[in-house]
Amino acid sequence: MKKEDCIFCKIANGEIPSKTLYEDEAFRVILDLGPATRGHALILPKNHFDNLYELSDEAASGVMKLARKMAGIMTEKLNCDGFNLVQNNGETAGQTVFHFHMHLIPRYKGDGQRIKIGWIPGEPDQEELEEIKKTIAE
Ligand code: AMP
Ligand code: ZN
Repeated sequence: MKKEDCIFCKIANGEIPSKTLYEDEAFRVILDLGPATRGHALILPKNHFDNLYELSDEAASGVMKLARKMAGIMTEKLNCDGFNLVQNNGETAGQTVFHFHMHLIPRYKGDGQRIKIGWIPGEPDQEELEEIKKTIAE
């Protein structure tokens, strides 16, 4: 299903041109217009899902298979030194385009980006970890 007025629906389905690296019946992989590094790309499902919560099981497994395949090809062709998969859900988590997408970010020694998402590590005690575990898993 496509969503009216969704720019990534239009790009994924070829209504708006993009620098396409790969396409099949379910996905299009395009170059990001505001890349973190050389070759930063996005996997877009052709069907519309707002985010991870909405993603179908089929699309979810397809995305990871495709990410693995693209990471291999891009690493070989771009000769990068590492690779980040990044996927944001919701404004609070930094999502700016509300059509599910997976970032494919080749990493190069000295590329000037943060080595990884910078978070300040917490210092939970065992009691707090236990409470969180119970909240999620029981
Ligand atoms: P996010 O912040 O995870 O929602 O990522 C949105 C990404 O989409 C950003 O990295 C943007 O640079 C990228 N972007 C936005 N519009 C376009 C577009 N028309 N074509 C390619 N990339 C885009
Ligand atoms: Zn869409």
